[in-house]
Amino acid sequence: MTTGTKASFTKALRKASGLGGMTLVRRELGNGLYVVQGSREYLVRVVDGEYSCDCAAGLASIACYHAAAVFLLIIARRAMPEAQPTTHTAPWTEGSAPGSAEIFAGMRG
Ligand SMILES: [Zn+2]
Repeated sequence: MTTGTKASFTKALRKASGLGGMTLVRRELGNGLYVVQGSREYLVRVVDGEYSCDCAAGLASIACYHAAAVFLLIIARRAMPEAQPTTHTAPWTEGSAPGSAEIFAGMRG
């Protein structure tokens, strides 16, 4: 793989796990692109199982924990296809706050 030797990828996986694992993945952009939180947001690309990242390590083809975080997300999804991808769920956002349904019910009459 482009992210270095298996040993260095294992090290990157350990670092990613310590920093929050797959929760480091902030957004999925589609087409194998993921936004991962590091010292800033990095863009990780996955093509045919090859991981690349636009951080300094990734550009030098060294395994980084950004790619490792995406890897963790992908294997978690494979293990639990029914599960929600990440912990990004917000039970109550402003738009869906309790009360709006009552307002609409009132308007109907
Ligand atoms: Zn990286």
